Amino acid sequence: MDLRFSPADEQYRLKFRAWLEANLPSAEVPADPDAAFAYQRVWQRKLYDGGWVGIHWPKAYGGQGATLVQQAIYAQETARANAPQPANILGIMIVGPTLIAHGTEAQKKRFIPKILNADEIWCQGFSEPNSGSDLASLQTRAVLDGDEFVVNGQKIWTSLGQYADWCILLVRTDTDAPKHRGITYLLVDMHSPGITVRPLKQITGHAEFNETFFDNVRVPRENVVGDINEGWRIAMTTLTYERGISSLATQVRIKQHLTAMIEYARKTRSNGKFLAQDPVLRQALAEAYIRVEMMLLNLYRGITKRLRGQPPGPEASLDKLYWSELDKWLQELGMSMQGPFSQLMHDSPHAIPGDWQYSFLWSRAGTIYSGTSEIQKNIVGERVLGLPKG
Ligand SMILES: Cc1cc2nc3c(=O)[nH]c(=O)nc-3n(C[C@H](O)[C@H](O)[C@H](O)COP(=O)(O)OP(=O)(O)OC[C@H]3O[C@@H](n4cnc5c(N)ncnc54)[C@H](O)[C@@H]3O)c2cc1C
Repeated sequence: MDLRFSPADEQYRLKFRAWLEANLPSAEVPADPDAAFAYQRVWQRKLYDGGWVGIHWPKAYGGQGATLVQQAIYAQETARANAPQPANILGIMIVGPTLIAHGTEAQKKRFIPKILNADEIWCQGFSEPNSGSDLASLQTRAVLDGDEFVVNGQKIWTSLGQYADWCILLVRTDTDAPKHRGITYLLVDMHSPGITVRPLKQITGHAEFNETFFDNVRVPRENVVGDINEGWRIAMTTLTYERGISSLATQVRIKQHLTAMIEYARKTRSNGKFLAQDPVLRQALAEAYIRVEMMLLNLYRGITKRLRGQPPGPEASLDKLYWSELDKWLQELGMSMQGPFSQLMHDSPHAIPGDWQYSFLWSRAGTIYSGTSEIQKNIVGERVLGLPKG
């Protein structure tokens, strides 16, 4: 494992850090979700004008052709600066790279520029009420009628569906073929007649994702990515990008949270003593510190392996399992440190500032999206430990 960054990479870090310092919005992200989304859109436009969106995309498609290490630096610096997330996060992370790999020239020309500048927002219509972990069992049907598909069915957990202009949609086009072989990957205009988007309110009080219903929605045949019934292969590309390098940003964010917790323990008294004097809590915070550093080293090990030309392997599952379970544990520790105050939501006038309640509730999501913890354990068991299939 190589822990050093080259002088050229350090220069890249300084350049991006300076750009962020000069351009970060001075106003806080608004509390209202719609206003927050508009704010993220403005921020993405600014990143775009500076050449800092989709840096891992090839230059020919508006990216920087950034190396793996530059992507790692980008992730670390955005988290360190607490930069807002760009509005079109799914477009940048998964849709653009999938289209670059598998789209037709016409599709690339039509869609790619508007992903980068946030003119068109994208969502991902993969999961269904009965198809999540077992995604290939999906039931949303598409039947070819002349030059158009007619789509009927339901998707669920569609993040950003309420803002999206376009959707990458997995549909069943052959009901007789084995389940992985009868799926097609479509690009669907979310403003088409027959689409209904219903928000799902979460335990956090926000509604980031939706149920999406398709009722005789017509989609031009030219909006197929790859070939008809070849959608599973394309979807696998999308999912590979979804489990990309962003864990480095997560590591910085988790570390920032731990630093805030340590600070809180130093200055908060309970039963006449500072929390930081409690030996049990001290042990827990020390363990947290070690686990957060281990996360970074594991991520660097994965990057080093790829820099040596080895393909990404099942360690992506180990990383995902590790950080999502670590975050959940750490957030629970944060709640226990606040004692009875942990019961107050952040908008209560008596709540301890810092929004820990929100991040505690949200940490559940990390163990579900992009493959649940149980699914990651299955992958690690089968592909790393060589255990028999469950
Ligand atoms: C924050 C968030 C955002 C999301 N955004 C999107 C989105 O934009 N678009 C989209 O399409 N989807 C999205 N999803 C959905 C996500 O991909 C699914 O929730 C996930 O794949 C799990 O599927 P499921 O919810 O149907 O659970 P299920 O697959 O029904 O699983 C239920 C439980 O059974 C366990 N389980 C299932 N199979 C096995 C097995 N073989 N072995 C052991 N245990 C098993 C699971 O671990 C889980 O605990 C999002 C989810 C979250 C939490």
